[in-house]
Amino acid sequence: MAAAVRIHKTGGPDVLTYEEIQLKDPGQGEVRIKHTAIGLNFIDTYFRTGLYPAPGGLPMILGNEGAGVVVATGPGVTEFKAGDRVAYGTTPGGGYSTERNIPAEKLVKLTDKVDDKSAAGMMLKGLTAQYLLRQTFKVTKGHMVLVHAAAGGVGLILCQWCKHLGATVIGTAGSEDKAKLAKANGADHTILYRSEDFAAKVGEITKGAKCDVVYDGVGKATFPASLDCLKPRGMFVSFGNASGSIEHPNVIQLLQGKGSLYATRPTLVNYAATKEALGSMAKDLMDVVGSGAVKIPVNHTYALKDAAKAHAELESRNTTGSTVLIP
Ligand code: NDP
Repeated sequence: MAAAVRIHKTGGPDVLTYEEIQLKDPGQGEVRIKHTAIGLNFIDTYFRTGLYPAPGGLPMILGNEGAGVVVATGPGVTEFKAGDRVAYGTTPGGGYSTERNIPAEKLVKLTDKVDDKSAAGMMLKGLTAQYLLRQTFKVTKGHMVLVHAAAGGVGLILCQWCKHLGATVIGTAGSEDKAKLAKANGADHTILYRSEDFAAKVGEITKGAKCDVVYDGVGKATFPASLDCLKPRGMFVSFGNASGSIEHPNVIQLLQGKGSLYATRPTLVNYAATKEALGSMAKDLMDVVGSGAVKIPVNHTYALKDAAKAHAELESRNTTGSTVLIP
């Protein structure tokens, strides 16, 4: 019998309920996988609280990232067979489960160089880093990059990968320990943005030149000061709202006033929109992870049934790097 963590109503971590579920046989184009590890992401909390609506209504099984083994295939599936090690990071829910059915086109095969926990900790976060620094704004040698929440799941991957590409990285962090961790993962400079004026600090560090790009998954708390960290015609990439959504009556005018800035609010689903795009992004990610240039720091592990505890820790800013749930 399969089991899953579901929500029947939106709310705090206590709405997460571990229960038995009935799984149908995999349908046309679907694969049944047995999870070995499941990734926890800040976006899971948005679905839990209702900030983002549950795509298929309630009850909903949270979780968009996981790794496991194929146990059965539905009609029309030719690329996968029982026993294949696979991972995914772009499904709208279904991940917090011992087993699940998933469209084959959302899966990638794992290479021997990537273990299951790392895969579960990187498919959503690492693919996000991939599109942010290889597509949204192409980071190259010489760029000055600001990464907010640099010790977080996406943050630590961004720091390492930007460094690998030859950029100079400034990372903000909520504590001294987190700042140290960001430095150990590629940040050249760190700023304690809960106590320091981070825009002023960026000015000091760059001797007034400022940054080519700001990667901001924090949202409300760092806006609009993030715009003051950019050179004229720099790129503001707002990719998340860990502190709440940005609400500003006239962002367009702000962009003009702060120096002909560019701004975008990208999401992974629009970048990994096709099987081909997902495949090439996953290859890029597996290459940097397989070569050791980017390591996936899985710093916290919980049993799947303890997902509520994991959510509370993530929201309390007590986690760093990736957290995985083990079924
Ligand atoms: P993190 O591990 O980065 O956790 C969030 C971090 O945000 C915290 O550790 C904390 O770091 C910081 N933070 C700042 N303010 C708050 C606050 N008020 N409450 C809680 N945390 C706060 O999470 P993820 O790596 O899972 O995700 C990072 C961001 O990326 C999220 O906003 C997420 O939604 C977004 N995202 C977007 C995607 C997209 O395609 N657009 C895809 C994947 C993720 P500190 O203590 O250092 O401040």
